[in-house]
Amino acid sequence: MTVTVRFAPSPTGQIHIGNARTALFNWLFALKNRGRFILRFDDTDAERSRQEYADQTLYDLHWLNIFPDAVEYQSRRRASHEEAVERLKRSGALYPCYETAEELELKRKIRLSRRLPPIYGREGLAYSNQDRANFEAEGRKPHWRFRLPNYRRDPFDPVRTEITWTDIVRGREMVDLGSLSDPILVREDGTYLYTLPSVADDIEFGITHVIRGDDHVTNTGVQIALFQALGATVPAFGHHNLLTTATGEGLSKRTGALSIRSLRESGLEPMAIASLAVLTGTSENVVPESDMLKLAERFDPAATSRSASKFDPDDLTNLNRAIIQAMPFEALRDRLVAYGVMGEKAEPFWMAIKGNLDRVQDVTSWWKIVTVRPEPGVTFSAEDVAFLREAFDLLPEEPWEAGTFKEWTSAIREKTGRKGKALFMPLRLALTGRESGPELADLLPLLGRAGTLARRP
Ligand code: GLU
Repeated sequence: MTVTVRFAPSPTGQIHIGNARTALFNWLFALKNRGRFILRFDDTDAERSRQEYADQTLYDLHWLNIFPDAVEYQSRRRASHEEAVERLKRSGALYPCYETAEELELKRKIRLSRRLPPIYGREGLAYSNQDRANFEAEGRKPHWRFRLPNYRRDPFDPVRTEITWTDIVRGREMVDLGSLSDPILVREDGTYLYTLPSVADDIEFGITHVIRGDDHVTNTGVQIALFQALGATVPAFGHHNLLTTATGEGLSKRTGALSIRSLRESGLEPMAIASLAVLTGTSENVVPESDMLKLAERFDPAATSRSASKFDPDDLTNLNRAIIQAMPFEALRDRLVAYGVMGEKAEPFWMAIKGNLDRVQDVTSWWKIVTVRPEPGVTFSAEDVAFLREAFDLLPEEPWEAGTFKEWTSAIREKTGRKGKALFMPLRLALTGRESGPELADLLPLLGRAGTLARRP
């Protein structure tokens, strides 16, 4: 059977790096298994869901190099959900209940005082037709609960019922259905909670592996029972740990913090984000991978730790630097043109500069330094001015080549007696206006003799 996975965000905000982790776990799993990846928008909450967030999510995924085989919207699949509901009602797995929130709270307290587990006592199952008619006459509407298969003969006497699965991330997992209330699947107003549409869609789309955050581990027992109640094959499950900020806070779509959009707009490369999102919180080293197939090779769901994983956004900068450094000129040619970096100097410029960039956009200031003038603001002591004038007068004649800088600095050393930092720093400052940057030996041929002489103080 074709491996089929889904990423199922609700379009209620900007997806963040934690959501990207879930998307990537699914994507890489599909890549490794030559499977299909479905993007499913869980947009049944009409109040909070927005098309613009769905569009933005798709854009973010494409930017991260994740290309769904299909895009689905739960809100457009109501008929299919209704059909599942009708089947469950017919089999008696779904039953109507009429309690208000206050009544339920009271029942809970009574059960606790009788030392019974504070779960729903299935009173709804005991209503007669007359009871129901009376409730309806009072103007009450039913909500519908899923009768968990956690009893032998008597539903009012639930027993320990272990549902187990081998989680592809966490290994052996177990949920005891006997300790759970029958979950509400349909609200009074006829809207669905997440569980039913999710399972119905997973069945209809032939999902073979449900990979998601570990905040869903406890839901899995009920969902497995629901797959079975609907007569479907139960998929495999994998629950990865969640990412938190360096200070341990959870990430939220609502705040926009660490959203993929903001990370993109800050100039980070998609593979820096993807490498961090996938490898943090695993036993793998967080090293940059420059393409998805390489990241897929490294990806091993079972190597993921079970506890939440803090990550430091500063790591993103380091990964980004490493990714940029490994980028061949051809891969970037067009992007560099957009920054004004073009012509015959573009490639040697890139080769000289790429080890010095936090973000690709930083090329603009270096391009200006190389093609126009050094960064302003440097002042030299009288002594350094004298040294630099002497040094510039020693510039070799053209043609220049790779060894020219060495030839020049040897001549300077011999003539002035300066060496080490005392020699190189004034040269660097005069040529670039910055205290650090690319190898001067690489810069010199880019400046040319005339360009270099123009920087003589
Ligand atoms: N919309 C759900 C969420 O974002 C999907 C959970 C799931 O993958 O089943 O939490």
